[in-house]
Amino acid sequence: MRYFAVLFILLIAASAHADSPLVAEIKKRVGDDYARLDAFYKDIHANPELAMHEVRTARILAKALRADGIEVTEKVGVTGVVGVLKNGKGPVLLIRADMDALPVTEKTGLPYASKVQVRDDDGQLVGVMHACGHDVNATCLTGAAKVLVGMKDRWRGTIVFIGQPAEETGMGAAKMLEDGLFERFPKPDYAFALHCDGRYPAGHVNFREGKMQANVDSIDILVRGKGGHGAAAHTTIDPVVLAARIVLDLQTISSRERDPQDPIAVTVGVIQGGTKRNVIPNEVRLQLTVRTTNDTTRKEVLDAITRVAKFAALGARAPEPVITHDKAGFTPALYNDVELTRKNVALFRETLGEEKVHERPMSLGGEDFSQFVRRGVPGFYWHLGVAPLEAYEASKKGGPPLANTHSDRFAPVPEPTIRTGVLTMSLAAIKLLEAK
Ligand SMILES: [Zn+2]
Ligand SMILES: [Zn+2]
Repeated sequence: MRYFAVLFILLIAASAHADSPLVAEIKKRVGDDYARLDAFYKDIHANPELAMHEVRTARILAKALRADGIEVTEKVGVTGVVGVLKNGKGPVLLIRADMDALPVTEKTGLPYASKVQVRDDDGQLVGVMHACGHDVNATCLTGAAKVLVGMKDRWRGTIVFIGQPAEETGMGAAKMLEDGLFERFPKPDYAFALHCDGRYPAGHVNFREGKMQANVDSIDILVRGKGGHGAAAHTTIDPVVLAARIVLDLQTISSRERDPQDPIAVTVGVIQGGTKRNVIPNEVRLQLTVRTTNDTTRKEVLDAITRVAKFAALGARAPEPVITHDKAGFTPALYNDVELTRKNVALFRETLGEEKVHERPMSLGGEDFSQFVRRGVPGFYWHLGVAPLEAYEASKKGGPPLANTHSDRFAPVPEPTIRTGVLTMSLAAIKLLEAK
């Protein structure tokens, strides 16, 4: 008898990843819907749109949600989509997908690769590509919506599905909030979002408790001098040399002023000045992105940038530089609610298997899902692996690195990625709102 009991326990342990009836039902529903999801994904992938121009994507997403009987409002925050699914008394859960693509010319060679070119807001002709996988995120949203509509008997409450514009510019979530997202529609008690991650294989997910992504500030510095002849620099105040000094001095904020345990990034991504080799210009423009992970550090680093630029100018006899802080473009740091994260991570481990759920380090990347969380809504944001397993394993053994998000070769493997996205999203929602 005892022998059989032990055998029974061993059998249970061996089949620890066997699906619960709930997981099995979700998987079956995702399977039944997969042909539609595949077509939806490839259509959006081939027709990407830049931030705040997601007109077609929003229309298709709204149509898909409406087809499931969800009440949809369009043009919330320029191009945002809001679908409200009411299902009795219970908490309100917001589920967000972003919709915008990037000004990148696609080089994946996929049959459904984007060939789209448009003029961007500055009038430049650019290729457009879903290089950040927001097409996957939006597809998973429609998949989860269909599952959740079909399984209404398993949960109670309200789900607000969001198609968010302009994540890449950090403006979309703020625009939707400004347009009354939390006043015109049920205010969420919880918020979920998933996002692609090119460094992990399809079928895997990763997460982080607490601090996950950074504060993102955009600073412009107009370095001023006094122009003149390149052969008579002594009669000028050369803003090119001064800008070069400022760029280097800014590096010492991170390396000489800050505690390495509290990571920051001060990156000068744009330096523009001058028209001709023998003309010293009057001005040089610098554009910076500044990343920090807490609010005190943020203030100190922004102050340090002003100090470094000002005193470099003083040392060069130059007029004070003009420093502009784009406050509207600020994206706050993203924090994952600890309790919500632990609950969902346990659920994902049980469902996908321990080896497919990874804890990841904090990133200095930005993510404006934080705008919802910063308004007091406990949030959980997780990453979805997208890479082919063989390519992932080869990269671990010193092979070619994987193409991550924002690369022109970023190419999620659609089926396992989307199936895992829809499964984790639907399961997390049902468990949170489970009907008792
Ligand atoms: Zn991105
Ligand atoms: Zn993204």
